[in-house]
Amino acid sequence: MEIKFIKNENPAVKPDASTLGFGKIFTDHMFIMDFSREEGWHDARIVPFENLSIHPASTVLHYGSEIFEGLKAYRREDGTVQMFRPIENIRRMNNSAERLCLPQIPEDVAMEVLMAFVSSEKDWTPSAPGTSLYLRPFMFGNDESLGVHAVHNATFVIIASPVGSYYKEGINPVKIMIEDEDVRAVRGGTGYAKCGGNYAASNRAGERAEKKGYSQVLWLDGVERKYIEEVGAMNVMFKIAGEVVTPMLSGSILPGITRKSIIELLKREGVKITERLLSIDELEAAMENGTLEEAWGCGTAAVVSPIGELCYKGVKYPVNEGKIGALTQHLYDTLTGVQWGKVEDTFGWTVEVK
Ligand SMILES: *Cc1c(COP(=O)(O)O)cnc(C)c1O
Repeated sequence: MEIKFIKNENPAVKPDASTLGFGKIFTDHMFIMDFSREEGWHDARIVPFENLSIHPASTVLHYGSEIFEGLKAYRREDGTVQMFRPIENIRRMNNSAERLCLPQIPEDVAMEVLMAFVSSEKDWTPSAPGTSLYLRPFMFGNDESLGVHAVHNATFVIIASPVGSYYKEGINPVKIMIEDEDVRAVRGGTGYAKCGGNYAASNRAGERAEKKGYSQVLWLDGVERKYIEEVGAMNVMFKIAGEVVTPMLSGSILPGITRKSIIELLKREGVKITERLLSIDELEAAMENGTLEEAWGCGTAAVVSPIGELCYKGVKYPVNEGKIGALTQHLYDTLTGVQWGKVEDTFGWTVEVK
């Protein structure tokens, strides 16, 4: 695919690593390409970062046709830059697109444009410990009409943001509130798709939890409010009586790449890991009888986020005395080691950006 490049003639001064937050600063360029039923994907271009201009009737503004991805480029100690399992993000984006009737992008084309874009913004990858270049590909329906139907026109964009270390003050376990009122997704709905609408629907519970001093909610299934699904915008895992348990992908859970990587890692290390239904009753019993040894969330942003307390129906249950567990720490060290190139990548997960 031909990619037009329009250079930003006023490049920004790269920020100091200490001032990086999450997703507030953007690089000098962005990638855009358009889709129409007649032309397919066309007009691939890397252009100076600027506001998008869309028609007030654009599909995304009214009917929420939007999907996104999140992955990172990491600077290794030798100065080279690498991404972590980008093909997995591309495949997931196409699954999300299929669910929302948005156009898919052939894997080789998606990989080519992602590589070209990250390569053009590579210098923005910070090198301070724990920092990275966060990549946000997203796609939205962009028909200029209020009619409700599968989209005929779409726009695909990739933006990049240098982000600071998630754990600037060290890895502190978080407090999680188990949500028994709102639900995030249901089977048959869009739970397995990474779409903006899922986030819009989960904000209310998140706000309520935050007001009570909790950092995220633990979602239960949307039908029986009985089975554990995810924690905030991360997948969740528990170590119960020596065995790791994570909710199976039932259709309402987002298939995280960090989740998948941890499962593959644990399997290779011979640690028992089971993907199955896990009910809140079973978890409550494990919290009461002391067999819940560790709990953590996992996702690209935090990698692994230890859970130090769970609150269910007003009862507070500390996990591992509020401290990070040994297995949680091991997973964090191993995954971040591979991502930043400090641990040998024996799985072939990383891809160098030239
Ligand atoms: C993105 C996301 C995750 C984590 O996926 P990763 O690929 O590991 O980053 C988990 N849950 C939800 C709802 C998400 O949007």
